[in-house]
Amino acid sequence: MSYRIFQMCKRCVMDTTDPDIIFDEQGICNHCKDFDIKFAKLPKTSFQESTFFQDSIKEIKDSTRGKDYNCILGLSGGTDSSFLAYLCKESGLKPLVVHFDNGWNTEFAIRNIENLVNKLNFELYTYVINWEEFKDLQLSYFRASVIDLEVPTDHLIFGALFKIAKKYKIHNILSGYNLTSEGTMPKAWLYEYKFDRANMKDIHKKFGTGKMSHLPTLGLWERTMYQKFYRFKQYHLLQTFYYDKIQAKKLLTEKFDWKDYGGKHFESVFTRFYQGYFLPQKFGIDKRKAHLSTLICAGQMTREDALAELQHPPYDPQLQKDDIEYVCKKWGISREEFDEIMKAPVRQHSEFHEELELEKKLHKLIQYVKPLIPSKLRNA
Ligand SMILES: [Zn+2]
Repeated sequence: MSYRIFQMCKRCVMDTTDPDIIFDEQGICNHCKDFDIKFAKLPKTSFQESTFFQDSIKEIKDSTRGKDYNCILGLSGGTDSSFLAYLCKESGLKPLVVHFDNGWNTEFAIRNIENLVNKLNFELYTYVINWEEFKDLQLSYFRASVIDLEVPTDHLIFGALFKIAKKYKIHNILSGYNLTSEGTMPKAWLYEYKFDRANMKDIHKKFGTGKMSHLPTLGLWERTMYQKFYRFKQYHLLQTFYYDKIQAKKLLTEKFDWKDYGGKHFESVFTRFYQGYFLPQKFGIDKRKAHLSTLICAGQMTREDALAELQHPPYDPQLQKDDIEYVCKKWGISREEFDEIMKAPVRQHSEFHEELELEKKLHKLIQYVKPLIPSKLRNA
């Protein structure tokens, strides 16, 4: 086994805990370079002044004249989705706001969502997951010792959102993706193919105990139907102007009595445990390095401040202890089993079935078949 000498980027705070990181002669990493290329293409004006933003809003409105809703918006209560809700109001969009409740919400998140929805006067649709099935699925990922315990949540959020959008005949889906928050994330720190149901089913088959028949999973065929035939369109509105996350937090706090959780995606107890305890302890990964690095590259934070923040533990050690106890209780496992799994050797997602090859073949087939279908049928 070969060990790499520890090295940190001279511009951001990414380091060799990303096994694929590359440095140039000046000691600048590949993440900085990738970020710069993408960042250069983004508008640098406010949303009020951005024609990209205004054009997107116009397109959404034009495509939904006379309809009850212009778009669907998944609201977690975190900064990005909360700011999107605010943007909808400012632009005169009427979204169907959907909150995905997987049983791990913090009280902060619930309060943030209630405050926003009430003050913005939006309708809220709360999708409550089948907890017993979801728990079994989440626990099977933990028992499998794979890296990405967030796949069940990330996959099922979209599954629920797509199903609700189809039910209400909404084609426009707002996404909170943005470069400033998520621009830097090493591939080795997650499982990229969150939609891979074959991988999910295999992990669940080997480490789960029950069924997953009530979960809104998305198979390859359903995803293809949603994207190609139902003409679902995703809008990354936070990419259409200069999105300053720190300013966004300030605005939300002032206008909506919104509360910051102190960490990215810490609106969920599980995510807080996952990013703040599980990943650092079992995989030696601190996702804050990626989050802080994007802020440095976007000019929204100094490297010194980021380094100072990294000196602190990911979150309060007492809260970590409380969270572990809470996680064990909620999953219904003993502390002994928890500790045993934390110490068990890690496994790759690729050790389980994957549907990637099948996906490539299906997309080729769709490209071939689509022009042969009469447009009336396609758009029905
Ligand atoms: Zn860097």
